Amino acid sequence: MIPLSSGPVPASADAVIIGGGINGLATAYELAKSGLKNVVVIEKQYIGSGSTGRCGGGIRQQWTTEENIRLAQESVTAYENMSTELGYQVFFRQGGYLMITESESDLPALRTAVTLQNKCNVPTEFLQPEECLKIVPDLDISRLKGATFCPRDGTAYPFAVVWGYARACHRAGVKIFIRTGVQDILSDGGRILGVETDRGRINAPVVVNCAGPWARHMAAKVGVDLPNRQERHEIMVSESLKPFLDPMVISITNGIYFSQSLRGEIVGGIGDPDEPQWEDPADFDTRSQLRFAVRFARALTQLYPRAADVRMMRQWAGMYDVTPDHRPILGGVPGLQGYHHICGFSGHGFMLGPVTGKRMAAQITTGQPDEIITSLSLDRFEKGELQADAFVVG
Ligand SMILES: Cc1cc2nc3c(=O)[nH]c(=O)nc-3n(C[C@H](O)[C@H](O)[C@H](O)COP(=O)(O)OP(=O)(O)OC[C@H]3O[C@@H](n4cnc5c(N)ncnc54)[C@H](O)[C@@H]3O)c2cc1C
Repeated sequence: MIPLSSGPVPASADAVIIGGGINGLATAYELAKSGLKNVVVIEKQYIGSGSTGRCGGGIRQQWTTEENIRLAQESVTAYENMSTELGYQVFFRQGGYLMITESESDLPALRTAVTLQNKCNVPTEFLQPEECLKIVPDLDISRLKGATFCPRDGTAYPFAVVWGYARACHRAGVKIFIRTGVQDILSDGGRILGVETDRGRINAPVVVNCAGPWARHMAAKVGVDLPNRQERHEIMVSESLKPFLDPMVISITNGIYFSQSLRGEIVGGIGDPDEPQWEDPADFDTRSQLRFAVRFARALTQLYPRAADVRMMRQWAGMYDVTPDHRPILGGVPGLQGYHHICGFSGHGFMLGPVTGKRMAAQITTGQPDEIITSLSLDRFEKGELQADAFVVG
């Protein structure tokens, strides 16, 4: 049972967090841990109902910018300790990530990435196609040109992670209200006053917008214009099979990724360049599509021909919250004291959530600017300080 608060929302709080996904709950937990007494999480549906509960659970350190590598590295350490820290089994398994390419032209970037990751103490290695067979024996390597592998990457079970955070939040005194929507963020004279929910007003000097794909819509309530757009991404799940696959396999050529779950299912997805981007939550379309099922099945059986006899059982869709440089938007905005956002993670907010929650909570409670949060603030778009990571895949 997740301990959730019932009854009316409190009249006041030290901080209100909008959204009960990984980012909202990790931030609430870290704020409470840093000594904030009265933290409230408001979630319009249920815990994990947004992107978090629809994600692939992948956690990797194989990035091409030092900032992403450092964040992911800290997150891997957080995931390694998470079951103990939260007192809840989150099923983090380090089977590694095998990142493959079918294109010669990707090889220099892969080799440069390995050098940078090794410099940051991430134990990635470059592999020739035939060396991939030691990691995934039945992979069809006929089109592969090379790969990289990091054994410390892995996967965790997204619902267990948010349930674990919710329980730890409760122990730390955080109140979580589900089926409660934030309708407005209140401010006056450049200062946050609180939120209006469909169950009453909460006065609070700090509001953290962790509304995932709805973050842009929430930010607009206080006149903050986020450049985020939303994109449907889908996942396919097969029948259960005997254990045969340790790592997450991911292709930087066509964006397919797949791993095997603890229950034995193949779980994976593939990006679709023809998916439109949406701005208005009223337009979000999370219906499943036959087009995705066909694209995924084709790409999977091409790479892993033995999957041709496997039955696909179900699929679902969720939204990526995408920014122009595919990097998250963190921090506050000048002239609006007490407002913060943690959003825009594209396909990597589950892996980065624990560490962004920790860093944001430290910045909010101490007032000391965090170097990485500063580099990911909204004003980078005005300043033109865009530094996209080459390995945004999925
Ligand atoms: C198909 C798919 C696969 C993915 N795979 C991976 C992966 O393998 N690894 C990875 O790291 N990332 C992955 N991601 C991305 C990842 O899921 C997200 O980046 C991450 O979950 C974002 O978490 P969040 O807490 O910011 O947002 P969310 O989980 O979306 O939570 C936001 C919450 O805010 C609530 N909310 C919104 N508006 C309001 C309101 N007005 N009032 C109250 N509550 C509100 C929503 O109901 C929601 O629960 C994937 C995403 C998808 C869709």
